[in-house]
Amino acid sequence: MRLILLGAPGAGKGTQSDMLMKLFKIPTISTGNIFRENIAGNTPLGQQAKTYMDEGQLVPDELVIELVKDRISKDDCKEGMILDGFPRTIPQAEALDTMLDELNMPIDFALNVDVADDIIVERMSGRTVCASCGASYHKVYKLEKVAGNCDDCEQPLIQRDDDKVETVKKRLDVYHTQTKPLINYYEKQGKLVYVDGVGEVEEVSNRVKKALRVE
Ligand code: AMP
Repeated sequence: MRLILLGAPGAGKGTQSDMLMKLFKIPTISTGNIFRENIAGNTPLGQQAKTYMDEGQLVPDELVIELVKDRISKDDCKEGMILDGFPRTIPQAEALDTMLDELNMPIDFALNVDVADDIIVERMSGRTVCASCGASYHKVYKLEKVAGNCDDCEQPLIQRDDDKVETVKKRLDVYHTQTKPLINYYEKQGKLVYVDGVGEVEEVSNRVKKALRVE
């Protein structure tokens, strides 16, 4: 299975990719996670990406495309992969098509997880993470036991810069102008499948499996 997860930031692509990764036993490639790891490690790539990410902007195509090219040519992607957060622009999608053509690994589906903007703002701006272990919490959906502290390691919880309300709104604008056209792009290729991303995680997971015809 080679799958692209489309959908706005905060639509739940990460959660669904965890489920799909276990189901299909294939890796997830999350460009956002790769950038965050590079930021944590203070690598040159991380330093370049951070300024864009903190502003809610996309990292330039050239940087992302090179990174994905390198990653999908690794052996663990031979049996399939889930792309979470890539492509995010038409040039990225075109570059991906070229890469996959060369590797003779066509995409099976582009799955659009659909969630309305106001729900996304509520979801993302309520999210906090542990500054130490990275565990995530939510002011409405997953409250910590002791306010402001991680349940596991008791360290302080923080809000990621890119989860702040103003940044979330900017990211949604960027999504609508630059990423949403991909829905049409994959629809024209006959690869698009759609699920409603609002509801309990399990409910959305069942819709995803049905859309991918694995149930
Ligand atoms: P995510 O965790 O996928 O929401 O990504 C977090 C941030 O990383 C985004 O807001 C962008 O700044 C950057 N990013 C991740 N993937 C891409 C991509 N494919 N193209 C450009 N920027 C990206």
